[in-house]
Amino acid sequence: MEYILETNDLRKQYKDFKALNGLTMHVPKGSIYGFVGKNGAGKTTLIRLISGLQTPTSGDFKIYGISYKDNNISNARKKMGAVVETPSIFHDLTAYENIKMQYDILGIKDYRTINDLLKLVGLENTGKKMAKNFSLGMRQRLGIAVALCGSPEFLVLDEPINGLDPEGIVEIRKLIKKLNKERNITILISSHILDELSRVATHYGFIADGKIIKEMSAEEFEEDCKKSINIVTDKPLERVLRDNDYNYKLINDTTANIYGEIAITPLVLQLHEKGISVIKLTENEENLEHYFFSLLGGKKDE
Ligand code: ADP
Repeated sequence: MEYILETNDLRKQYKDFKALNGLTMHVPKGSIYGFVGKNGAGKTTLIRLISGLQTPTSGDFKIYGISYKDNNISNARKKMGAVVETPSIFHDLTAYENIKMQYDILGIKDYRTINDLLKLVGLENTGKKMAKNFSLGMRQRLGIAVALCGSPEFLVLDEPINGLDPEGIVEIRKLIKKLNKERNITILISSHILDELSRVATHYGFIADGKIIKEMSAEEFEEDCKKSINIVTDKPLERVLRDNDYNYKLINDTTANIYGEIAITPLVLQLHEKGISVIKLTENEENLEHYFFSLLGGKKDE
């Protein structure tokens, strides 16, 4: 698999405090990578490092296969856009003027594309309105538009939905999907709200205490999270589950999780036919946040 971003045993220490403590992650090309972790886990620190705002204490990271220690890293960064913490926009300028300013900074001469960019983020009708009079969601989208000025292939968004109202969240979500699908932009989004990311992410990296505790695809994640029945029998049950094409995961000889919509009576009868009795049957509904906490070893969020 081709990775747009790879980190290897990355560390960032502030005095005695290890903000990143051996972080290894892989962002596949074309993915929407949900970077999930509680506040203080180290998400912004990672984003600051890859954006070049700070340097690592040790370890390595590569963008487009180029190590940050390589002189070519600045070329790799030209293909990357980021909105870190608050969007870098000028509040006394309109949306158009903000983009034009960024074009000037980047030396882009063709102003005709400014309106296309505003349209892409849904700000084409804001006219003379200054950014200070925008809603938080509009400012966030303008920040994304500024990050998109150099036509990056990799976009990094740090908590893009923080503080947004439900409507603002929906707009950002739509925009993220559109940028990924229509422009093939690989997107790294950090958030402490797993549920929100689960609507857009194709891959996940779960971070806790400056380390990635698990990376997985959305399919693997759904498989782990989806509704299941936990069944305990008096004799080994795998054969019955396999012969009847159940989607299951064996926990031990006499205990399994069975996934999907299960009709209980046929299942009990199929087992009964083979002389197996059901001792216990419970429904698990793995909630996303619960799953996240179970990955963290059962720690609760503050
Ligand atoms: P997240 O984005 O996941 O909320 P951060 O990367 O912002 O987490 O912070 C990780 C930890 O590093 C936090 O405990 C934070 O207080 C600490 N930290 C961040 N920047 C500094 C700094 N400049 N000096 C000291 N500690 C810092």
